Amino acid sequence: MGYAHIPVLLDEVVQGLIRPAYRLVVDATVGGGGHTYSILTAHPNLRAYAIDVDEAAIVAARERLEPFRDRVKLKRANFSALKEILGDDGVVTVDAVLFDLGVSTFQLEGERGFSFKDTHTLDMRMDQRQEQTALRVVNSYTFEALKKVIAEYGEEWKAAQIARAIVAERKKAPVKSAREFAEIVTRVVRRTGKTHPATKTFQAIRMEVNQELKNLEIGLQAAIDLLAPGGRVGVISFHSLEDRMVKRILKATPELAVLTKKPIRPSRVEITRNPRSRSAKLRIAEKIRKVDA
Ligand code: SAH
Repeated sequence: MGYAHIPVLLDEVVQGLIRPAYRLVVDATVGGGGHTYSILTAHPNLRAYAIDVDEAAIVAARERLEPFRDRVKLKRANFSALKEILGDDGVVTVDAVLFDLGVSTFQLEGERGFSFKDTHTLDMRMDQRQEQTALRVVNSYTFEALKKVIAEYGEEWKAAQIARAIVAERKKAPVKSAREFAEIVTRVVRRTGKTHPATKTFQAIRMEVNQELKNLEIGLQAAIDLLAPGGRVGVISFHSLEDRMVKRILKATPELAVLTKKPIRPSRVEITRNPRSRSAKLRIAEKIRKVDA
């Protein structure tokens, strides 16, 4: 109901991440529950932890996963606390962990300031309990800090001009809505091609608000540590900063064998059906069984 998030690379996840002998899987980003639903349908012996930091996602996932209520534990938490979340239940190893990063359709289409046209408050929090919001970042960061965030997380070469425009505008009146913010950026960045000129800046502010790279680094490391020998971790990322981090961490971990030499990409058919999938990349790695010395 209302939640129209189409899971990305669904077959690839169900087939590539789960092996028949697995018993416990963690969906670290359950969202609307699409991936977990299919995983549990395909593998009747599996149980799952389904985690999301967004209260609205937990509500949606609870409804979607109702048929599996005996096999799923839903937890509202940040996946950077993966070890603590599972540790609270005495769980110290798992067979598979999935991260499906990025923003859900539900978040994008909600009234939370994630999208350019949204006339509601520029909020962008995935976790409504945290204090930091996009509004605070945009209205309180110094010129230098804004420039750095937009340049680093947005890989936007006009970061200085955008930061300058933000500082000039907020002197007149604080920035309020996502739409207003998109307009400030659009005055500085010319449209090229199909992408909205504020795409990179929105991504950057969102990553700052939700500390996305830091959480990914901690969460992915925790997932790797928790994997049982022969277990697998899969990460779907949606932009190059994330993908580079995932690639680097998987490669740098001696106990992992990377199963995806090149990341798995959606087919043309999937991209046509679900344009949001076009930038998705799935990487999967397996924990090597310990060999006695
Ligand atoms: N696979 C899901 C969609 C996931 S969308 C499905 O099939 O429906 C990404 C989700 O990750 C969002 O709901 C977002 O709230 C969540 N998320 C992002 N960062 C998170 C974090 N650090 N901890 C927990 N959840 C996070």
